Amino acid sequence: MAKFDTFNDPFDFHIRTLPEPNPDIQTLRVYTNEGVITKFSNLSYDTYEVVITCPEGSHQLNARAGQYGTIKVEGMQKPRSYSFAKTPELENPNEYTFFIRLVEGGEFSGWLAEKNREGEKVQVSGPMGKFGLDDSNKTMVCIAGGSGMSAINALVEQVSVQGIARDCYFFYGARTQKDLYLIDELNALAGKWPGGKLFKFIPVLSEELEDSDWAGPRGFVTQHVKEQYLDKGVVTSDDIKAFFCGPPPMIDHGVKVLEEAGLSMSDIYYDKFEDARSPAPVIDNQKCVLCDECLMAKPIKNCIVEATNFKVSDGEVTSFERVNPGHTSGLYYNSLFIDETECIRCYACIDACPHEAISPAYAHVPKILREL
Ligand SMILES: Cc1cc2nc3c(=O)[nH]c(=O)nc-3n(C[C@H](O)[C@H](O)[C@H](O)COP(=O)(O)OP(=O)(O)OC[C@H]3O[C@@H](n4cnc5c(N)ncnc54)[C@H](O)[C@@H]3O)c2cc1C
Ligand code: SF4
Ligand code: SF4
Repeated sequence: MAKFDTFNDPFDFHIRTLPEPNPDIQTLRVYTNEGVITKFSNLSYDTYEVVITCPEGSHQLNARAGQYGTIKVEGMQKPRSYSFAKTPELENPNEYTFFIRLVEGGEFSGWLAEKNREGEKVQVSGPMGKFGLDDSNKTMVCIAGGSGMSAINALVEQVSVQGIARDCYFFYGARTQKDLYLIDELNALAGKWPGGKLFKFIPVLSEELEDSDWAGPRGFVTQHVKEQYLDKGVVTSDDIKAFFCGPPPMIDHGVKVLEEAGLSMSDIYYDKFEDARSPAPVIDNQKCVLCDECLMAKPIKNCIVEATNFKVSDGEVTSFERVNPGHTSGLYYNSLFIDETECIRCYACIDACPHEAISPAYAHVPKILREL
């Protein structure tokens, strides 16, 4: 296959070097299926197990354990992102299981929690995200907070069903005993963990009443890992891989703790459960080569659009014009642009972009490449 290193603008506008195409990109292509909620049950008072079944013959989402999808219901403007909560080996074909926690004032989770949603029609898209198991046999230090249980549960299930022999500590941060679920199932994994290796499930409670009957560890889960496991040498930084999933502050603290303990970022894998409060990513249109990979990965229609004639105020785009892709080419008349009001912060486009052209850190104002 011909290797192309440079892109020559026919108008000699600029010349740039292209990075090598990433062969994994294909796995990030997102498919959308119509489905029906076929199971709806409480895992705890505020967390639900939801199984979505798609018709036979629909496109398999082919997610790996650790990846996520989006769910949309009719009448709601935007879908929401949810991690696949089971390893695909334990799902029936065309079935997808999610653990969804009620967020106060949340539109989607509020709708879900209103009543038993079995029989409701939904759209499910995926797979998204790069989070997942590495291929080493180092000790796994898994840390999940709140609904981050979903992705880590899928990960440990994967290790168990695939018979991968490696030690695993699974720390779960919750507020109180009533927030705990899957305790029996996770403890039972220890007895059937592959290769005679160790599996330990360790719930850590941050808001359990002092005088309750809870005999397990208390405090913040990441602090517990530091004080009781890293500082005491129960696990050592040269022999572990860390997997985090849950709210951004927990992950930020966990990464800091592990880095201070000597772990390098290449040994830390995480999936932050961003939400409506997180920043939308921005496309740097000088890095973008219009390869369209982000368009194949986006879960919703109008989050990434071809646009021009940006009006800018205080460093933010206040309005823009959509360009009809049938009649022009964004490359010459400006750019692909992320419409913040449509974006659901799934970050699938960031993972899919082979040219590092998308990041929440980039300047919000597109460069004017060429006037329309
Ligand atoms: C990659 C990824 C995977 C995810 N996986 C899961 C999962 O497996 N299970 C799960 O339950 N959730 C998961 N989430 C979070 C999920 O996508 C939604 O953000 C969450 O369910 C809230 O949606 P909502 O429609 O109910 O709230 P929204 O209507 O989006 O938000 C309503 C209000 O609540 C605030 N808010 C939103 N989320 C939170 C929060 N967590 N804590 C406090 N305030 C909040 C918002 O700022 C807003 O003011 C994941 C997110 C990402 C990015
Ligand atoms: S932003 Fe990235 S993925 Fe999207 S078209 Fe541009 S280069 Fe391709
Ligand atoms: S712009 Fe990117 S982060 Fe936003 S919804 Fe689309 S794919 Fe997801």
